[in-house]
Amino acid sequence: MTLTNKILLGMVAGMAVGSVLNLLLHASGSTDLINVVVNDYLIGGVFDVVGRIFVASLKLLVVPLVLVSLICGASSLGDNSRMGPIAGKTLFFYLGTTAVAVGSALLFATLIGPGIHVSAGADMAFEPSVAPPLQDVLVDIFPSNPIRAMADGKMLQVIVFALLVGYAVSHAGEPGRRIAAFFRDMEAVVMRMVGILMSLAPYGVFALLAKLFSELGIGAILDLAAYFFTVLGVLLFHAFVVYSTMLKTFTGLSPRILLTKMRSVWAFAFSTASSGATLPVTLRTVERRLGVHNSVAGFTVPLGATINMDGTAIMQGVATVFIAQVYGVDLSVTDFLTVILTATLASIGTAAVPGVGLITLALVLEQAGLPVEGIALIIGVDRLLDMVRTAVNVTGDATVAVIVGKSEKQFDEGVFLNPRADMNVDDDEDETTPGATAPA
Ligand code: ASP
Repeated sequence: MTLTNKILLGMVAGMAVGSVLNLLLHASGSTDLINVVVNDYLIGGVFDVVGRIFVASLKLLVVPLVLVSLICGASSLGDNSRMGPIAGKTLFFYLGTTAVAVGSALLFATLIGPGIHVSAGADMAFEPSVAPPLQDVLVDIFPSNPIRAMADGKMLQVIVFALLVGYAVSHAGEPGRRIAAFFRDMEAVVMRMVGILMSLAPYGVFALLAKLFSELGIGAILDLAAYFFTVLGVLLFHAFVVYSTMLKTFTGLSPRILLTKMRSVWAFAFSTASSGATLPVTLRTVERRLGVHNSVAGFTVPLGATINMDGTAIMQGVATVFIAQVYGVDLSVTDFLTVILTATLASIGTAAVPGVGLITLALVLEQAGLPVEGIALIIGVDRLLDMVRTAVNVTGDATVAVIVGKSEKQFDEGVFLNPRADMNVDDDEDETTPGATAPA
């Protein structure tokens, strides 16, 4: 069985086992013994420990990988100064796709009207955490201390630092070339670590999902079915229709190949609900399975994991219309435009970890003059939607990386077309040029 299939199997098995345990715990005949065994030994024991170790190991790789990968990428570009155009195109596509995402969320939600028959409960209370002001978000991109930036996992700061180092390395003559060679070796080593972790992923994914589904109140979906399925529908539309059309239009490549190769990344995104924790796998897939050269992928993918959140923006668009409908507020055209703008900016400020989309939703609601307490209405189903929207977020990063890579000729079509490229992550011992070769 291929690794991708094993990961997908872990995912399905995790959801199934979790749901069965959930039923078992809530069944009328369930005894104390069953509760203790299931709660303490399985859910709170084995699953919890394995799941948390898995997520910690993924996070462990993020900073080293972004740092070395971006330094390599920027240093190989520095000479021909394509950094500006690559950054420009990447930002254009990231912001553009997010605006389209919120736009279609608003459109579908207005047409479907998920909140029309729902009324706001009197007992609703929600204390929103305060979203940081935009100025702080901008200033916060620039690190004053690179070590602190890495220790705190501030991705944008690490990106700025790595770009600077990479650029300097490419302009520092012979010493620069020596340092570049060192970072290329480091990149191969860190990528190998990602490979090792990926081969353990079926168990990690299983544990995370078994724990989550055993605790999840699926019943909440029934109450909020209209909202839940509207968000889900727009997410699927964006992932399968919008990205596919974009890929076909701008590159002529087959969207089916891209989507097929993203399956194992989706399993990571789905089980961790964090684009940040999924980043090592997204990057490896974009470079080695989709064929985008490290000089583009090393910049585009980490940046995307941090600022490009189309799935999150979709949830925010639908949630805004839903809450407006529940409270009987009519949204004007200006309100819609405000929501598109703030949700696009909020998606930049949303940290790539579980559940943050709900916090930045407060910002969007405030700008649209809607009651922030409305968030309490949708919390119940947010975790499940978070899993799906995170998968959409990472698909957006990969799609844009391929589009920019192809337009910059930093793309290996042979790897993209090869269905077996990097299929077996254990095969890459001899690989010396990441992203440029496909292990047979
Ligand atoms: N969990 C999402 C991500 O990491 C962010 C969010 O929507 O809460 O991409």
